[in-house]
Amino acid sequence: MPPQQVRPHYSEGMSSRTNRPAGARTALRGDALMNGRIVPDALIELEVRGAEQVIIAVGPAGRRAAGARARRVDGLIAPGYVDVHIHGAAGHDTLGPRGSQALSEATRGAKSPEPDIAAALRLLARETARHGYAAFVPTAPSLPLPSLRTWVRAVARARDEQSHDRAAGRARDEAIILGAHIEGPAIAHAQKGANDPTLIIDATNLQADLQNREHDWAGLSIVTLAPEVRGGGELIDYLVARRIVASLGHSAASYEQATAAWSHGASSATHLGTCMEPLDHRLPGLAGAALAHPKARVEMIADGVHIDLRLAVLYAQLLGSRLMLVSDALSAAGQPDSDFRFGSIPARSANGRAAMSDGTLAGSLSLLDTGIVRIVQAGYPLAAALTAATRTPADLLRLPELGRLAPGAIARLIHVNPATGALVSALRG
Ligand SMILES: [Zn+2]
Repeated sequence: MPPQQVRPHYSEGMSSRTNRPAGARTALRGDALMNGRIVPDALIELEVRGAEQVIIAVGPAGRRAAGARARRVDGLIAPGYVDVHIHGAAGHDTLGPRGSQALSEATRGAKSPEPDIAAALRLLARETARHGYAAFVPTAPSLPLPSLRTWVRAVARARDEQSHDRAAGRARDEAIILGAHIEGPAIAHAQKGANDPTLIIDATNLQADLQNREHDWAGLSIVTLAPEVRGGGELIDYLVARRIVASLGHSAASYEQATAAWSHGASSATHLGTCMEPLDHRLPGLAGAALAHPKARVEMIADGVHIDLRLAVLYAQLLGSRLMLVSDALSAAGQPDSDFRFGSIPARSANGRAAMSDGTLAGSLSLLDTGIVRIVQAGYPLAAALTAATRTPADLLRLPELGRLAPGAIARLIHVNPATGALVSALRG
């Protein structure tokens, strides 16, 4: 049965948009998600710093003076979502309007697609903000290295332009663009998923390019790789030394190989249950190691397509605060059923699934607001689901200013239905 479409009711852009002058203070009062728990009748005090609203104090409202002038919110106040794995939505592809084609033409001397890609990312930033996002990590599938390099430069450009606009008080209705996530090409052929097999390379080759063209790759935040491919261990060491997240995925790694990689500083696993060996009771593999290893933060796509939601809840319970909900959404998300390209690979969306012609799944058709509702509907507690879509991914990226209601955090807040987890709206102070 295809998952039912869940459509949120949203009405505003993200909360930190404000026309108030710097230094102006406001407050919100209501039940709020703090440190993974729902605190009843909390007070959240906000101040405008630069062009953003920032949280300056949080805690039970009690008799604090600011409580009297606070705006009351019926429902749950939570930080906006942070998605570390997204390829697009609503027709906007992270690779830009002409996708991998324009990237490969550019390496043959055609005009640079960087401005078009940066523009597409800004449109995606606006779209995701409407779905409650505070921030996201644009993600690309395997591409030829020169194309990937150009794409990472375009992500960095979009991020820098947006940051400039934010400082000037513009870009208020956009989720924050973080660094780039490359999903390949140093992955295992046996677990390629929707990656083009002709583009898969050894980790040694990827590392050589990262080293030789360090400046071009400066916008990189996350690399999904298979630790068992040639040079996998060295690549992980290289990434860890540069504070780039090494995420194990599209991999046939054994339990031992995966455990060794996380023990050496890799810190994430890419979409648990997808593009890794299924959990076998005698061969626990990457999936079993991800569930077990205390240092692995683990992505899970809660769309009801990539993992049966009953199993998703079971995995989520095992992972606890290591769970990260991701969308893995494609440009086809939120669009009518269509034929489209995922990187260089033709794919089709129909009945809530996006797949290649041989049936291999290619990313999802829904964003995190929908994912939260689905996993809560399947029985996972709302506070834990929201934490998995906010604080845990922000912690993976070492971003204390995102994903939490805490002093110093950017106040990109959302208002959530406390029973269903559905997004009600973004909140302004
Ligand atoms: Zn993906």
